[in-house]
Formats: sequence, structure tokens, C-alpha cells
Amino acid sequence: MSSTGLIGAVEAGGTKFVLALATQEGVILARTRLPTNTPAETWPAMQAFFADASAEHGSITAFGVASFGPIDIDPASPAYGTFTTTPKPGWSGARFHDALGQFGAPIMVDTDVNGAAIGEWMAGAGQGCRTLAYTTIGTGVGTGVVQNGRSLMGISHFESGHIVPPRNGARDPFPGICPFHGDCLEGLACGPAIERRWGKSLDQLGAEETGLIAWYIAHLASTLVLLHMPDRLIFGGGVMKAPGLIEAVRRETAIKLGGYVRHPRLDEGLESYIVTPGLGDDAGITGAIELGRQALSAR
Ligand code: ZN
Repeated sequence: MSSTGLIGAVEAGGTKFVLALATQEGVILARTRLPTNTPAETWPAMQAFFADASAEHGSITAFGVASFGPIDIDPASPAYGTFTTTPKPGWSGARFHDALGQFGAPIMVDTDVNGAAIGEWMAGAGQGCRTLAYTTIGTGVGTGVVQNGRSLMGISHFESGHIVPPRNGARDPFPGICPFHGDCLEGLACGPAIERRWGKSLDQLGAEETGLIAWYIAHLASTLVLLHMPDRLIFGGGVMKAPGLIEAVRRETAIKLGGYVRHPRLDEGLESYIVTPGLGDDAGITGAIELGRQALSAR
């Protein structure tokens, strides 16, 4: 027998919102996308979608939200679900619980990266993993670590993009573009840093350039292994689509680990250990549906 009550799922990105109404088994009954304008425009459009979809398909019993940030994701915080210091006009101080409260259902809010990590764990390249680390390398860099389907956090969500990798000034004199740190990982290896440094797009990178970016990313990959011992590492995002990059990240990570970590999960060449995402664009909304389920079980 299927469970009663439907899940409202929100994948909130910097340019678009993806909304879905799904069964608790994950079957999507209605789905739409909205541009991310100001809350004054986007909130009413979101409320209207869920009200209409619910009128047609049944009542909403929980919401799961995977959102851009920075956003408060601590369920114990009075500001849970509130955008904090985002430079996006109008969003600082906006709160998902205000926008969705009219439905009277529990709400679980997590970051977009954690949402994608949970989605990959549920139905993508992370299936069967106990601990999974999912990293996106795109306009920014971030990692979600999922353990038994739940994202890990501390006093806030993790910020793996701002660790500082070793430098070789002769090989790479570029100072980096992070406004806080300059040459942190994000400042050196995100898409805008690559374009600023070489003045060309990712698919035009040569082997030396790809190798340099891989060397930086491998610093994060080996650090994730040492700190979390995940069953698998997934690397996605626009930068990872550069030809030859994932292969170079595997090689550089194996070199950095130096044979120290021995476990059957870490296969020779790391081809099944370091992988690309399995769900593509559907990871976020899949994770948001799972967050809705977690909101139900947490109640
Ligand atoms: Zn930084």
C-alpha cells in the first residue's frame, strides 16, 4: 500500500526554481520551473504551483528544499530556512518557512550541493554507498557529504571550496579570484578562475592546463578521503565536463594518497572510486523529494 500525502519538492537555484509534487515513493505528479526573480515575484508563483497541483492530486504532507545560499540549514536555529548574506537582491532575510507555511506541512531545508548529493545517493552514482562525497566544480566549488542518506553538517554547511591547496608559483603564478582568500581551491579552479587565467573556455584547455586544475582538485579529493573515508567520490559541475579532467583527477589523487589508504573500494586507477554524476540535471529535485521524506520522519 502506498503512503498517503504528497511531497512538495523545491530545487532553488540562482537562476531558476524547479518545483515538483511527488508521491512518497518518488513518482513526480506535477513539475514546473520558474525564473529566480525577487521573492516578491517568485514566492507567489511557487505558492500558486503547489496550491494548484495539490488541488488536482492531493494534500501536501511535507516539503523538501534544496537551495542556493548562503542559507541557514540548522533545524535547531530560529532562522532555519532563511537566506543570510546572499548578494542576490531581495533574498537576504527571505525564509522558505514563510513562503510555504500556508500548507501547514513540515519543511526540511538543505543546500543545493547537499540536495544533489542526496539525489545521487538515492538514485544516481552514489547508490549503495554508506558514506558519499559529492563535489561540484562550476561557478563555485562545494562538497556535500552524505551518510546513510543524511547530509553531514557542523555549525553550518561545509565549505570545501575554500580549503587552500599547495601552490607551485613557477607552474601557476595566477593569484586566484576568491574575494576572501585569493588562491583557495575555488579561487584557482572554478570556471571563472579558469577563464580569467587563460582567457579561454574549458573545452579548449590543453593537457598541461587540465593537469594543473586536476592537481588542485585532487588536493580536495585526497583530503575528502582522509577526513571522511567515503565509499565513493562524485565530481560534477560544468568544469568537470572538460575533456580528460576526471581521468587526470584520478591519476593525481592516486599520487597524493601515495598508496597509504588500502581498501577494496579504492580500485586500481580509481575508476570506480572517482566518478561523474549519474543523474545529471535531475539530482537536485530527486534530493529535494528525499528531503521531504526526511521532514516527515523527523516530525
Ligand atoms: Zn576562498
